[in-house]
Amino acid sequence: MEQRELGKTGLKVSPLGFGAAPLGGMYGELDEARGIEALHRAIERGFNLVDTSPYYMKSEEVLGRALRGGWRDKIILSTKGGRIAKDVFDFSPIHMTRSLENSLRLLGTDHVDIFIAHDIEFADDLERVFTETADVLHQLKTQGKCRFVGMSSYPLGVLVRAVERCGLDVVLSYCHYSLLDTTLMSRLLPVTQRHDTAIINASPLAMGLLTNAGPPAWHPADAETKAACRAAADLCRQRGVELALLAVQFVLSQPELATTLVGISTPEELESNLRAMETTLNFTLLTQVERILTPVKNRTWPSGKQGD
Ligand code: NAD
Repeated sequence: MEQRELGKTGLKVSPLGFGAAPLGGMYGELDEARGIEALHRAIERGFNLVDTSPYYMKSEEVLGRALRGGWRDKIILSTKGGRIAKDVFDFSPIHMTRSLENSLRLLGTDHVDIFIAHDIEFADDLERVFTETADVLHQLKTQGKCRFVGMSSYPLGVLVRAVERCGLDVVLSYCHYSLLDTTLMSRLLPVTQRHDTAIINASPLAMGLLTNAGPPAWHPADAETKAACRAAADLCRQRGVELALLAVQFVLSQPELATTLVGISTPEELESNLRAMETTLNFTLLTQVERILTPVKNRTWPSGKQGD
């Protein structure tokens, strides 16, 4: 599989990365053996970036079991800290340090490659994230507990400020480069390029909206957006195509993106995403789908306490 440079980190990443949120059960009940089979096959086929978080329920535990026996050394492993539960956050240096220690224990490794402050838009005091949390990230890097550090947020304005303030190696942005929303290109990319910060793009399927099966019940998009995605999925179904295939191909065709994390929980989803890499984009269908999604394009949903 092709590999692309992840900014100035020196890391070479596969254009699709393995998002392990579904492995924790975030998208419903997981068949662990099939989840692990999907992960191992993905690595064998060239996926080399795997992303998890303590917030993703059982994800780190399952990954810890899956990565025994030499698999850990074949991948770039990313985890996060600071988001503990849906509405529970702690970005204090002491928590971030303990969180990473616990992740290393669960993952069965002495370091992760990338450590990310998770969903910083929920912090009560963003100024402290930009000072204290940023400092502890850099200390953990110096101690060798992680090789690179970053922050994630849904609102792009928050990520832009983080890039400008914190000397980050990477930022993780989700749901802002997909068939539904391409604002990452205009709002985030120019700033990251100026500051030598790499972007990890995530959620090419807009967390399940851009699939024929549709999103999980907790999805935060508004009703009109969900209806437009259902209409796009209906059209794809009529044409015998999985909307996710088109959505992944759309993201892969953007050369400015080094890598995009897609959440995978079964070997079938993996195969479908590999097919997306190996086949060409159906431009006629893409144009029709884009027309359906135009009225809701670039809409966002509220996230956190910091505006957008
Ligand atoms: P996604 O857009 O990748 O969608 C995942 C959903 O689509 C899951 O239900 C998955 O089972 C399904 N799916 C995957 N491939 C499919 C296919 N070919 N056909 C049909 N369905 C398919 O959303 P995501 O998993 O939330 O995002 C990807 C990863 O990015 C996450 O696992 C996580 O690692 C990372 N992420 C991080 C943050 C953050 O840091 N705040 C937020 C979102 C995502």
